[in-house]
Amino acid sequence: MGKDKLNVPNSSIRCSVQQCEYHCGDVEYCSLDSIHVGTHEAYPTEKQCVDCDSFRLK
Ligand code: SF4
Repeated sequence: MGKDKLNVPNSSIRCSVQQCEYHCGDVEYCSLDSIHVGTHEAYPTEKQCVDCDSFRLK
């Protein structure tokens, strides 16, 4: 925490993960300029196979 930009929503990145440090809280957006999306699977086939690698626990 402690970043000035933390609560400025990036309207290009919708997100509902309230537990993330970068989530905007009242609105369903991420506050980062960009995020990295990755996978924890060798061969991802479903949406639950992919992750927001920029997630950081509050
Ligand atoms: S970093 Fe990822 S999980 Fe966190 S608020 Fe942004 S999009 Fe959501």
